[in-house]
Amino acid sequence: MISLDDVTVRFGDRTVLQSVSLAIPEFRVAVLGPNGSGKSTFARLLNGLLLPTEGAVRVDGLDTRTDGRRVRRQVGFVFQNPDNQIVFPIVDEDVRFGLKNLGYGAAETERTVAEVLERFDLTACRHERTHTLSGGQKQLLALAGVLAMRPGYIVFDEPTTLLDLRNRNRVIAAIGALETPAIVVTHDLDFAAGFERVIVFDEGQIVCDGPAGIAIEHYRERMR
Ligand code: ADP
Ligand code: MG
Repeated sequence: MISLDDVTVRFGDRTVLQSVSLAIPEFRVAVLGPNGSGKSTFARLLNGLLLPTEGAVRVDGLDTRTDGRRVRRQVGFVFQNPDNQIVFPIVDEDVRFGLKNLGYGAAETERTVAEVLERFDLTACRHERTHTLSGGQKQLLALAGVLAMRPGYIVFDEPTTLLDLRNRNRVIAAIGALETPAIVVTHDLDFAAGFERVIVFDEGQIVCDGPAGIAIEHYRERMR
């Protein structure tokens, strides 16, 4: 369970999230909202990349303020732009590097790297240079690297926004096949329609939180 208890975030005198309270049990949730509504701020709070100005964010009972390290391990984060996430020039090295400080033995590390690359159809290019991958393959590599660390949750910040249709479809299929609970910020209403629960942000507040059909309709009305 991830919970926000009366969370406010300010940057200087600007309030970006205002008194947000929310509980996310372990299943898939999509987050919608116009640009600047606070979606990325919300996403970054969930794994302690950002701390609340007021209120508390808890992950399985851990407070992001005091248990940052454990929270960051428990909540994986996939950035909008995988170029900001892929740090090594070779595909399999990038996944291996992420496992370095997790206490896996050498055999377990290699097994995990092979498993996640296979899972996202990256085995054939495991020795390739990462800059030669397509946008969708890069996003899948970023996801592979996060999944290899076995987080309890994964947060995605607009994972399909930079992708063409074919890559979008591959990334959506990969996210849909995850067993790990996912919190996905997206502008893609067709993608959001497949979620059990959709949360809509506007101007730093949750304005709707419910089943996809109802929340998407609310969002469409609001954006008219
Ligand atoms: P979204 O992801 O919904 O587009 P963000 O959460 O990125 O929205 O941003 C919400 C608001 O907070 C925006 O107006 C943005 O300019 C502002 N903001 C985000 N991060 C910072 C920061 N580090 N410093 C100052 N303002 C910020
Ligand atoms: Mg954003």
